[in-house]
Amino acid sequence: MFNNFFQIEARCGAARAGRLCTAHGEVATPVFMPVGTLATVKGVPQETLEELGVEILLANTYHLFLRPGTETIRKLGGLHRFMSWERALLTDSGGYQVFSLSDLRKVREEGVEFRSHLDGALHFLSPEIATAAQIALGADIIMAFDECTEYPAGREQARQSMEMTARWATRCKKYFEEHTGEAPWKRVSSFEFQVSSSRSDTGNSKLETGNSSQLLFGIIQGGMHADLRRESAERTVEIGFTGYAIGGLSVGEPRTLTREMVEATLPHLPPDQPRYLMGVGTPDEIVEYAALGIDMMDCVLPTRAARHGLLYTSEGKLAIKNARYADDAGPLDPRCGCRVCARYSRAYLRHLYSSNETLAAVLNTAHNLAFYLDTMRRVRQAIDLGHLAAFLSEVRSHSLNSSAHREDPA
Ligand SMILES: [Zn+2]
Repeated sequence: MFNNFFQIEARCGAARAGRLCTAHGEVATPVFMPVGTLATVKGVPQETLEELGVEILLANTYHLFLRPGTETIRKLGGLHRFMSWERALLTDSGGYQVFSLSDLRKVREEGVEFRSHLDGALHFLSPEIATAAQIALGADIIMAFDECTEYPAGREQARQSMEMTARWATRCKKYFEEHTGEAPWKRVSSFEFQVSSSRSDTGNSKLETGNSSQLLFGIIQGGMHADLRRESAERTVEIGFTGYAIGGLSVGEPRTLTREMVEATLPHLPPDQPRYLMGVGTPDEIVEYAALGIDMMDCVLPTRAARHGLLYTSEGKLAIKNARYADDAGPLDPRCGCRVCARYSRAYLRHLYSSNETLAAVLNTAHNLAFYLDTMRRVRQAIDLGHLAAFLSEVRSHSLNSSAHREDPA
């Protein structure tokens, strides 16, 4: 009943390659979604993201709620128009950010009271307020407000948290259904829309085709307990969402446990709806999770690492500040087709980074995103051709090789 916006076009083992149709264009899956916390991928202009082939970006409701305010963005026509991004957007609900403010928050049934990390002002988020904020922002995919379970958490704590998330999910869905069609771009008159779309030649602003509503995804919690994960999945599916996210992972647990929890959850999700694993991962992790049947992932790793001079390449990870690159005239990654690798040398990138130049972050981020997007492109191709297992072992062997000469991250 929900799958008119998601088509699976090829399968290889548990992995699937498909197409997610949003009000702002199609997204080929499995997809890695770059994180644009404050309506910007730090250091990268939107035209570069378009050129890199980014089809969907993530933005953080918590941060935009505090600054500049979701109501301000709504009045300016919504997040797409505010940031001049006509392709798809996903917003998280703010649950994870509020959870990370452990000393500044109070959780109760109604919602979460918290102090802003900016100025200490008191705020309140609830399932209804978080959903209203995401409707005001107008992202194509919005997330239910959840309680991200702490790690480590005992069984009883994880159960109570999971049950709260389930009750909140019901409230989010109810609010969403009562306010469907209120996204700012739904209110834009057709004249205004024509003016706005003629400004761009991306050809990706297709309000008139595909899915023309926001989509609400539910979030599975349950801590590191396989049976609670299963129960959370079953209860969330029973409430009924257009897609399902696995939340509360990548919060400090060992990687084997992350994988175990993903594997414990996936069999209980509908096979024909999108599955989103929140907050992962390294290049080899995103390939592994795609192989398990995950369709969407996001992580600050490629962009944050880039700003710290840590670059992912086909030969492994490298720290550009290392003295060995001072006179290296070669490209950052000889196998990368991005503009940075085509134009600049390792020596120049090292010089920019060591000199604290702004351009270092710009170029490093563009390359790391190119590397991640290219990895996902190759995953989709491998699924299409039925070669995913071979691709996975190739990625794993690079990852092993790279750890041998991995540079100090500090
Ligand atoms: Zn590159």
